[in-house]
Amino acid sequence: MKSFSSSLLLFLFIATAPLNNCCQKHNKPTQVKNIIFLIGDGMGDVHLYAAMTRAEYTLNMEKFPYAGFQKTYSLDKYITDSAAGGTALASGKKTNKSIIGQDPEGNKFRSILQIAGENGLSTGIVVTSSLTHSTPAAFYAHRHYRYLYEEIAVDFLDSGIDVAIGGGYDHFVNRKDSLNLLDSLIIRGYTVITRPEQLESFDKGRLFAALYPEHAPKISEGRGNMLSEGTAMALDILSENKKGFFLMVEGSQIDFGGHNNDLEYIMDEVLDFDQAVGVALDFAKIDGNTLVVVTSDHETGGMTIIDGSIEKREVIPAFSSKEHTAGMVPVFSYGPGAEQFSGILDNTAFFRKFMDLYGFSD
Ligand code: MG
Ligand code: ZN
Repeated sequence: MKSFSSSLLLFLFIATAPLNNCCQKHNKPTQVKNIIFLIGDGMGDVHLYAAMTRAEYTLNMEKFPYAGFQKTYSLDKYITDSAAGGTALASGKKTNKSIIGQDPEGNKFRSILQIAGENGLSTGIVVTSSLTHSTPAAFYAHRHYRYLYEEIAVDFLDSGIDVAIGGGYDHFVNRKDSLNLLDSLIIRGYTVITRPEQLESFDKGRLFAALYPEHAPKISEGRGNMLSEGTAMALDILSENKKGFFLMVEGSQIDFGGHNNDLEYIMDEVLDFDQAVGVALDFAKIDGNTLVVVTSDHETGGMTIIDGSIEKREVIPAFSSKEHTAGMVPVFSYGPGAEQFSGILDNTAFFRKFMDLYGFSD
């Protein structure tokens, strides 16, 4: 019996080996229709492990078949920020800290979201910060200074983004120049929504949902499931496009918890982000043609765990910084081409891989 099964195995090996070689040689490169890119702002591996220890269930981020690390440094600094970090993730090019979507001389970069839109795909961003904050802005704006929120809001007008859900309507309507950019958005065909309860009334077309004057509240202050529900809603709208879509989802406030060295804030925000990751994974598993990539832009707080207990779901943290730190951050991927996101990647590597997987040329 033993020799029979081993000769059967040998036969199967010989029979399938040439087949594999043949198909690898003649296959077209892997292509994807849709990409969902999820960014946990400020999320290092320790923030994630703290949330894994606390949770009474297996996190969605633990379920990915491929994992890697990302190097985060900016053009000018070993320790980056969300402007340079977001720009590298969105456009595949490093720039200086505080710069959005362009180089230090002012030459604009094209982001994967912009290129997807130009190629007829639908595009979206769902965040828990202001829609003009650095991470989402890096996907559509070009400004030399990240805090130019009102100028970044102007850049949104002609971004072509089909679905935007987040906060920050003040930058569109309570402006120094008295312009009402919400009216400009309506002219461009957007349904404009400024309160969470109005979301239910959305029917179809382009959606601009800035649900708060500035950032959304913390989870502990009543934000609810805005991020995961917003992600589900965006996927509903974007998947109408037969050509495909690009969606960026950000757990924006993990970083805020890190700056505050606030363990509970970090835990809440990582677990909330993980819910949105679960929505993306569920979509991709059913769709079969969707790549999901999860990463971060940098670590915030220099968080370590100096004691704790699996049994008690307890974490005792220590923080070495109130700012960002230089350590590598995690990468998780699922779907067609996902294996390309394992190992150690630079933050500029995502853009080129996305371009190739979509089949876009420069
Ligand atoms: Mg951010
Ligand atoms: Zn930060």
